[in-house]
Amino acid sequence: MELAGKIVVVTGASRGIGRAVALELGRAGARVIVNYKENAAAAAEVVEQIGNAIAIQADVSTLAGVDALIAAAEAEGGLECLVNNAGVTRDGLLLRMPDEDWDDVVNTNLGSTFRMCRAAATVMLSRRRGAIVNMTSVSALMGNAGQSNYAAAKAGIIAMTRSLSREIGRRQIRCNAVAPGFIDTDMTRVLPTELIAGVTQMVALRRLGRPDEVAPLVRFLLGPGASYITGQTFVVDGGLS
Ligand code: NAP
Repeated sequence: MELAGKIVVVTGASRGIGRAVALELGRAGARVIVNYKENAAAAAEVVEQIGNAIAIQADVSTLAGVDALIAAAEAEGGLECLVNNAGVTRDGLLLRMPDEDWDDVVNTNLGSTFRMCRAAATVMLSRRRGAIVNMTSVSALMGNAGQSNYAAAKAGIIAMTRSLSREIGRRQIRCNAVAPGFIDTDMTRVLPTELIAGVTQMVALRRLGRPDEVAPLVRFLLGPGASYITGQTFVVDGGLS
């Protein structure tokens, strides 16, 4: 129960990896703010499972959404931990990629993480405590055909995490990133079966990961065991990269 009583925000916590992270942080004793964009029923189910949690609808790709989410955390007693997990893909080859698919993916993945970090770090700095985990991807490290927009946004998150850690470290606020490989969620379920079969052959463990195999690392990075770890990116990919 190392996060007992702490107010934790998880963006995109209604499904997939964010859902597993929210459940794991609930088990660590945190009061979890379960953010979602559209799927109220799924978010309500996560809240019910955790118990000590509330659901907040907010589109974190907008400044208004970010402000509303941080205000909700402050109203609960003060944001202590943040997991920037919400993300989207719009896959396609770079040569044929429309500007909207580039802009949407960069804004929702990188822009939302930037604006959430800015708002969260502001309140954390004033209290001189807090920890942030940003969700990136092995696509940022390896590259992935059809994901130039997504890989660029996720690489931006890694560089931003390193830079931010140097800005807020002197007040003992930490910021790290987690880079999952292929995890079985709605995001990967839309991919063609042949592509998944090909990827699986490249994974040392020969299978996709489960969301609950990513969540314990996030819990660790937010907790006291990681008190001297900041600015880093940790890969959870079954040996893909
Ligand atoms: P997912 O199953 O598609 O779930 C996405 C979650 O993000 C949902 O809870 C969704 O809310 C929320 N969301 C999307 N846009 C949002 C917005 N603008 N504001 C607030 N919430 C928003 O995705 P996932 O596979 O769990 O991925 C989670 C994170 O891990 C993403 O950052 C993704 O890039 C990263 N990742 C995933 C994999 C993988 O293999 N799955 C690998 C590497 C990295 P609603 O339910 O309301 O739509």
